[in-house]
This record gives sequence, structure tokens and C-alpha cells, in this order.
Amino acid sequence: MSENGQWDASSDNRNGKIFSVPKWLERYIDLWYQRLDLNEWRVKYHLGLDPTSYAAVIVKPQLNEARVSFRVDIKDTPGSRRDVIHELIHVKHGRVDEVVHKVIIEQLPESQRDMANRAYAAAYEPFVHGVADNFFELEVDLDKAREQLKKAAPKRKVKK
Ligand SMILES: [Zn+2]
Repeated sequence: MSENGQWDASSDNRNGKIFSVPKWLERYIDLWYQRLDLNEWRVKYHLGLDPTSYAAVIVKPQLNEARVSFRVDIKDTPGSRRDVIHELIHVKHGRVDEVVHKVIIEQLPESQRDMANRAYAAAYEPFVHGVADNFFELEVDLDKAREQLKKAAPKRKVKK
């Protein structure tokens, strides 16, 4: 958990059930929250029951706030980790999205806004997806390199 209190975990209590966020997920969100330098954002996250989506985010740049939801059956897999990075990149990208929406899309006639939204999403989703994949692969490579360094490090001789 971050010390600055800029984000917090919550749980989904629809149908009277409370789903607590797994520890690995909290730690992994915290890791990428720090790596992406999201300190200006309050990121809330929770588990939800929407079966159509593994992960989703609502970003509110005016409030410096984002709400990430993960499917309730989320497991610690490479795919889930990519999803965490992906959604947090959306948060990081929130300022750009805000400008595109306010300065461009909202200025269009209403009949064109839906098409413009879809065109923008068609351009930025593959970008976010690609960057998240690259970050994840870098992390895997870094972990492997750290392991190799540990194994290669000469054992210290204890002098008497
Ligand atoms: Zn996305």
C-alpha cells in the first residue's frame, strides 16, 4: 500500500458479497502505480462481477481520480499482470484523453462524436496494449537478469 494515501482498495459488495482484493494484485498495482509515477492520481480499485470484462478503468482527470475494476475471478497470471499495467497506462494517459475529448471531440457536431470516439479508441487502444506488453516483457527480462546475477554472484569466503 502506498504511504501517500493517494489510492485505496475497495471491494464490491453487490448481492451482499464482499470480494476482497488479492494481496498479489494490491502489490502489483502499487508497483506499477509507483513505476508510472501516478502520484497525482487517486486510483481506486475493486473486484466486480461483470463477466464481459477482465479489467476496465474509468478515468476522471478533473478529479485526479480513476477507478479500476477487475473481474472477481482474477488470478495471478501474465495476462492479468498485463491488464494491470494496461489499465494504469490509461490513467497516465488521462490528461491526453481529456484534451482530445474537450478540444476536439466535444467540438464536433453531435452526429460525428460517436465516430470520432471510435476512431480515437481504435488508435490509442493498440498503443496502450503495445506499451503494456512492452513494459511487461521488460519486467520479465529484468526479473530473469536479477535471478542470473544472484546465481552468478561469487559466494563470499568467510575469513577466520
Ligand atoms: Zn484499454
